[in-house]
Amino acid sequence: MNAAKRSIATTDHNNNAGRKIAVIGGGLGGLTAALAFARQGAEVSVYEQAAALTEVGAGIQITPNGARALDALGLADALSAKGLRAQAVMPMDGLSGATIARFDLTAQVPAYRFFTAPR
Ligand SMILES: Cc1cc2nc3c(=O)[nH]c(=O)nc-3n(C[C@H](O)[C@H](O)[C@H](O)COP(=O)(O)OP(=O)(O)OC[C@H]3O[C@@H](n4cnc5c(N)ncnc54)[C@H](O)[C@@H]3O)c2cc1C
Repeated sequence: MNAAKRSIATTDHNNNAGRKIAVIGGGLGGLTAALAFARQGAEVSVYEQAAALTEVGAGIQITPNGARALDALGLADALSAKGLRAQAVMPMDGLSGATIARFDLTAQVPAYRFFTAPR
């Protein structure tokens, strides 16, 4: 057996308790991975090149598939408390302003939410 196969055979990816894990980059992916490892008991350090984590843009939409992952990390209540539940997506004609279609989102579980930057 070569080294790579030995490594895979001896690594329990479901048990990260006590492991020291470095995550490079404190963006959405890095922070989510860091929380997932921490929930499994790992000692996680996040290394971010930016001097401060600040808001970029006016807000962010979290689709149900993304919310499912965040729910699994125990963030369901935080998402519900902070976000606005989307009612529909309505593509519009850029010239006339006419609504082209309406996709109802009210039945989405978990909810399709928008999070806006505090003013
Ligand atoms: C204008 C805009 C609007 C968007 N709106 C949405 C939205 O509404 N909903 C949605 O789901 N997605 C949205 N996205 C996409 C979403 O922002 C990205 O998919 C997501 O941020 C990617 O996450 P990431 O962790 O891979 O990268 P990032 O969030 O970019 O994080 C990477 C981090 O790594 C750091 N880094 C890079 N190199 C190093 C290094 N060498 N050492 C240390 N740190 C380093 C960077 O400074 C950064 O903080 C939007 C994107 C843009 C540009």
